[in-house]
Amino acid sequence: MSDGNSSRPTPAYSRVMLKISGEALMGTQGYGLHPPTVERIAREVKTVHDMGVEICMVIGGGNIFRGLQGSAQGMERTTADYMGMLATVMNALAMQSALEAQGIHTRVISAIRMDEVAEPYIRRRAVRHLEKKRVCIFAAGTGNPYFTTDTAATLRANEMACEAIFKGTKVDGVYDKDPVKNADAVRYDRVSYDDVLAKHLGVMDASAIALARDNSLPIIVFSLDEPGGFRGILAGEGTYTIVHG
Ligand code: UDP
Repeated sequence: MSDGNSSRPTPAYSRVMLKISGEALMGTQGYGLHPPTVERIAREVKTVHDMGVEICMVIGGGNIFRGLQGSAQGMERTTADYMGMLATVMNALAMQSALEAQGIHTRVISAIRMDEVAEPYIRRRAVRHLEKKRVCIFAAGTGNPYFTTDTAATLRANEMACEAIFKGTKVDGVYDKDPVKNADAVRYDRVSYDDVLAKHLGVMDASAIALARDNSLPIIVFSLDEPGGFRGILAGEGTYTIVHG
């Protein structure tokens, strides 16, 4: 694909949501933040930003704290979930720092007010940031316990009128069984929202899939470990699975 005026490919989408789990930021260390890994992902984001694509991001918090784990160990669930949401803010700030080191203006927008470190979520203001080509990282999930950051990413993608959600994972798409454990696992090129739900394919949690389905928002599952993979898909290349209606 080419815009005819330059060698820069015309991106397949003009505004996207990139959802990554908190664990994507921890590298091989098994917990917390690994700054070189954050920097590597920031470089991948920059290659897409350089195409002129408007980028929203949601980063999970599972590398630091998950509400369900806390409540399984006796914590009150709501409090544990708020701790999980706060963990996502730390990840968002780390990513903001890495993106700004690459020269990309970035705003962290929090669903829980903490004005000293992040902007409050105001939809019209966030849209304006995107129009000015600032990356918007939506932190603190939906601001509500009992949800996940997959649902937060789908919610914000709808509110921001993103054309697709890019779900960065360790593998290059959705398989019929775990490709790490099963050599004969088969990757889907395309799969419907209903099949993802019925077959428990584990792309995102069920409420996120249902929210994407009800708003016809495609979900593109791809490998974040593949250098150039994010940009490649926007340029019309690469291997991935698209979840569609
Ligand atoms: N969380 C929440 N409400 C939200 C989003 C997240 O309560 O809207 C909490 C929840 O406890 C969750 C934690 O934040 O376990 C971290 O988010 P998530 O598990 O989605 O992170 P990921 O698995 O993507 O790293």
